[in-house]
Amino acid sequence: MIDLILKKGKERSLLRRHPWVYDTAVGKLSGKAQSGDTVRVLSHDGRFLAWAAYSKDSTLRARCWSFCEDDRIDATWIEEKIQRALNARESLFARTSAVRVIFGEADQLPGLVVDRYGDWYVTQFQAAGVEAFREVIADALMKQPGIKGIFDRSDAATRHREGLAERVEVLRGPEPPQEIEVVEDGVHYGVDVRKGHKTGFYIDQRENRYLAQRLAREFKQRHGRGMRALNCFCYTGGFSLALLAGGAEEVISVDSSADALEMAAKNASRNGFDEKRAKWVQADVFEYLRQAREAGEVFDLVILDPPKFASSHRHIDRAARAYKDINLNGLRLVAPGGDLLTFSCSGAMDVDLFQKVIAGAVIDSKREAWMIARLGAGADHPLMMTCPEGEYLKGLQLTLR
Ligand code: SAH
Repeated sequence: MIDLILKKGKERSLLRRHPWVYDTAVGKLSGKAQSGDTVRVLSHDGRFLAWAAYSKDSTLRARCWSFCEDDRIDATWIEEKIQRALNARESLFARTSAVRVIFGEADQLPGLVVDRYGDWYVTQFQAAGVEAFREVIADALMKQPGIKGIFDRSDAATRHREGLAERVEVLRGPEPPQEIEVVEDGVHYGVDVRKGHKTGFYIDQRENRYLAQRLAREFKQRHGRGMRALNCFCYTGGFSLALLAGGAEEVISVDSSADALEMAAKNASRNGFDEKRAKWVQADVFEYLRQAREAGEVFDLVILDPPKFASSHRHIDRAARAYKDINLNGLRLVAPGGDLLTFSCSGAMDVDLFQKVIAGAVIDSKREAWMIARLGAGADHPLMMTCPEGEYLKGLQLTLR
């Protein structure tokens, strides 16, 4: 067993059970460790701190498996963690067949993402530690009842930092279908696990899609007509279909990607929605919002769920300006009494800053707005309280009067 001995004073974050060891914290190694090896992390004066997976090329030099000295990081330990993660998601399957069953650090499996779509798992191995246990993990997953196979979508850029090549291939079982159909809160979606974003679907927005569905339903009950909604950055139609299922009269959905829109339209017909109720517009949202305003468009609900504008803290100012721009122009399109659902999935932008940016947009819009709810990822994306870096998706529900 190789010891990774920290520099003096660098044990503090581990004592608070934060699971990352940066290269700058490393004093020395007791021997030669390969990427993926389990090392024992010790303070400069030899106190046990954690078991961790070593990654020799990464600035994130080690990711902790466990802070318990009695643990042995072997196949049995990994299997236990997988089972615990699966058990924790069990109740979600009553509502949906698309669930993130393993969420990295939050499940004590740093760098591992596993999503379940129907009878299939899709994996992302984003760190050397879980990569080393790839076969163990695949075998444990295949033991789950009803599973047909595992597709590996390990093509996230984070792999390069870990010295791992990108890999997209069948890991177990046959080739999955071109599109796997999932049902979430009564809505059918096709998921392209080979080419779709992330592992194919924005599972993290489940609760917010459900909120959209409820808002559409309540609107119809209250007003006796379906709402007119605008869904910006619609991708494969997640929010759009939820709104249509809730009884929205007309949903205009905007995205710059022709492929995403094609899939979205296909998803709409999958649910048998009247084509006239759904408009799919290929456009740049920044421009579309300006043009819609000039044309005097008004919507009962506007949704803004853009891609990550800030990939790191260095881009935060530019990102803040972009968020403000779309939110200002989005707010201007909301009918009196209508709602705005606005999101940011930039981990680098925290909740406070996001709220400030949106408040700035409200001020400039000269509209009056109230926050009804703070929104975030679903229960299958838990935030480990000792690792705040796990928080990335945040949103606000505003009502305009
Ligand atoms: N709301 C979606 C996820 C959005 S992902 C869901 O719940 O499933 C972000 C989407 O924004 C992608 O589909 C991408 O094609 C699109 N996009 C990125 N930049 C854009 C721009 N400037 N204008 C329009 N669409 C854009």
